Amino acid sequence: MTTKYIFVTGGVTSSLGKGIIAASLAKLLQAQGYRTTIQKLDPYINVDPGTLNPYEHGECYVTDDGAETDLDLGHYERFLNVPTSQANNVTTGRIYQSVIEKERRGEFLGKTVQVIPHITDEIKERVQKLGNSGDYDIVITEIGGTVGDIESLPYVEAVRQLKWDLGEHNAISIHLTLIPYLSAAGELKTKPTQHSVKTLMESGVMADILVCRTEHELPRELRAKLAKFCNVREEAVIQSIDASTIYDVPNLMLDEGLDTVVLKKLNLESSVPDLTQWNAFLKRHKHPKGEVTIGLIGKYVELQDSYKSILEAFIHSGAENEVKVKIESIHSEYLNKENMKFKLEHLDGVLVAPGFGERGVEGKISAVQYVRENNIPFLGICLGMQMAVIEYSRNVLGLKDANSTEMNEKSTHPVIDLMEEQKSITDKGGTMRLGAWNCEVMDDSIASKVYKTKNIKERHRHRYEFNNVYKEQIEAAGMKATGFNPNTGLVEIVELPEHPWFIGVQYHPEYKSTVANPHPLFVAFVKAALNYSNKKKGVSMAQK
Ligand code: GLN
Repeated sequence: MTTKYIFVTGGVTSSLGKGIIAASLAKLLQAQGYRTTIQKLDPYINVDPGTLNPYEHGECYVTDDGAETDLDLGHYERFLNVPTSQANNVTTGRIYQSVIEKERRGEFLGKTVQVIPHITDEIKERVQKLGNSGDYDIVITEIGGTVGDIESLPYVEAVRQLKWDLGEHNAISIHLTLIPYLSAAGELKTKPTQHSVKTLMESGVMADILVCRTEHELPRELRAKLAKFCNVREEAVIQSIDASTIYDVPNLMLDEGLDTVVLKKLNLESSVPDLTQWNAFLKRHKHPKGEVTIGLIGKYVELQDSYKSILEAFIHSGAENEVKVKIESIHSEYLNKENMKFKLEHLDGVLVAPGFGERGVEGKISAVQYVRENNIPFLGICLGMQMAVIEYSRNVLGLKDANSTEMNEKSTHPVIDLMEEQKSITDKGGTMRLGAWNCEVMDDSIASKVYKTKNIKERHRHRYEFNNVYKEQIEAAGMKATGFNPNTGLVEIVELPEHPWFIGVQYHPEYKSTVANPHPLFVAFVKAALNYSNKKKGVSMAQK
């Protein structure tokens, strides 16, 4: 079949959850047998979000092919269980970079290079790249930002042209808006939506479907009014009411008939989506049989979006273990030897988060020492793993100024050091060790029990590494390296066999956790936390 395209734009305000709506719709289409993928177009000038501070844009999500992307791609993968790639995220920076490179190569044959048609052509090409791959029946393209923004204009224009080029039943647009509730008047208001649909129309794009975010049920008359003023059928006015979990949204969209209207407009057959596995997950997630408390130690903990994939991986692995995972966010900058016991003693597990730069690292190192000495289950991810190596080197091997050269270039014991191939790199963007790399897991390790296979592939995003010069010394003292890159010998996993459950990984397991495939490392970590909690309870019962 020819690929069909669905464009998702947003109006009235940002943060309406376009990514979740796109992912939920994709789930419903996938569950009816359509090969579906989702793409995000971001109107900012950064070439990718890799150089953005998490305060600006939340987590940077990494794909198998090493693209540093918007966090919405994480939702796409978690919902669909299909890997995304560089082609699934395009920014204005990348579009311009590519057009300017073509201009330098003389590919425009002397023409004046302009926003229309050159920038819009480049956008259209990027949209159709996924469709032309032959891998997908339906491509959903989410356009970041809000209609009416100056920077969104070339994207909306590209949508207008594509809808025209592809024809009525091959491309449709969904507009996501907000229906605010004015408590003083006790009323839901449609005017902002009318205005935003009008703004979209001024650019020549008619919304085929409206998805309306709301805190209250939309009455029938209000839907009829929206339909009349916004040129859509009543059945195409879809309510998206606040949900207690993002994983409820596919079912909410199913109840509203979003998939049916979409398929009808695309001239495709619709059937009942098979959500058996999804709903089994939801049931386990909503009816936990127990609870564990895990401390998440990082420096962006006040921001939900900064550790998005980690938080979601805990939801998947909690459901798998049928427990609720309560996350206690602990700011590493305010963690010190004096308050350590008070902040960590009651936890069933501790995760030391990824990160960059010096701020907050000493708090992380002290936290690792506390969990190591008190037998609390520990998972260190990327910088968290590096902190575990530094802590062990300082406090067990007695290498007092052991450090990463990222934090102290002059350390006499650089147990974590810049990779050789990183030393000559000066550009910050897209130059880390990125994407999926092979790792060989040693027998008789926690990792081999967790993965149940010798060869794994996990995603990376870092510049520094375990310094193999110290490997013998560290292993002799008790910390074991249990996972290696088979080609370079780089250490990817460290463990403490003397500890009940202590593991640090140089890669990011959280990126690969999905609803259908909760990551085994998170599943095992939550299980270890549960065992630890039960043991603690047993001890305190015995003491009574
Ligand atoms: N800053 C560390 C490095 O570059 C760790 C990176 C991370 O945690 N993602 O190696």
